[in-house]
Amino acid sequence: DLMHETARPRRKLGVMGGTFDPVHHGHLVAASEVAHLFDLDEVIFVPTGQPWQKAGKQVSPAEDRYLMTVIATASNPRFSVSRADIERNKVTYTVDTLREMQSAHPDAELYFITGADALANILTWQDWAELFELAKFVGVSRPGYELNTDHLEEHLRDLPADAVTMIEIPALAISSSECRRRAAQGRPVWYLVPDGVVQYISKRHLYVPAGTEGKA
Ligand code: ATP
Ligand code: MG
Repeated sequence: DLMHETARPRRKLGVMGGTFDPVHHGHLVAASEVAHLFDLDEVIFVPTGQPWQKAGKQVSPAEDRYLMTVIATASNPRFSVSRADIERNKVTYTVDTLREMQSAHPDAELYFITGADALANILTWQDWAELFELAKFVGVSRPGYELNTDHLEEHLRDLPADAVTMIEIPALAISSSECRRRAAQGRPVWYLVPDGVVQYISKRHLYVPAGTEGKA
């Protein structure tokens, strides 16, 4: 009908979840590449909340991870950062994040962006029916991780062809773990993370063992 013919096309929103401890150029290239290939209007970075401890490891304060993500994305008019997960005071699953993004942007079409390593986990442990109702999934290549979809294949067969798309992106063998390790050892993280993030890490003494802050 006429209403439909004149309606604007649905906004396409990328959602990039992560711990971002710290955010690095691997995250930014992934978001940028998916935004380009899928013609997204915006990519929303969603840092995970604090209570969620990565395999029992210590995670930097949510506010620091949030601010680093803001600093890293500030210059890109299509990138933004959501506080949704850091303000929810409980363990966050991808499905929670997507539900919240959906209700904040009811008319948008959501694309959840994830690296090969994280995608396998999400699809293995969570409720498929709801996940795929909420978003399309875009898995990006990541050096050192083979995307093994063997155990997912029988499920994937039942889904629409565009429910999960795998794409090849420029390979950046950068991880937050390695950035933290380098910072802890006084080695440079320049050019692995945006300049403002290098400066923020040093200003807030992130990742350096307690008591050695002044010595770098
Ligand atoms: P950590 O080493 O602490 O696990 P990380 O580098 O994996 O950190 P996360 O915050 O865990 O970063 O990742 C957020 C998302 O970004 C995940 O979907 C992850 O697969 C993806 N990702 C991270 N680094 C890269 C990279 N170098 N190339 C492609 N995708 C990446
Ligand atoms: Mg990771």
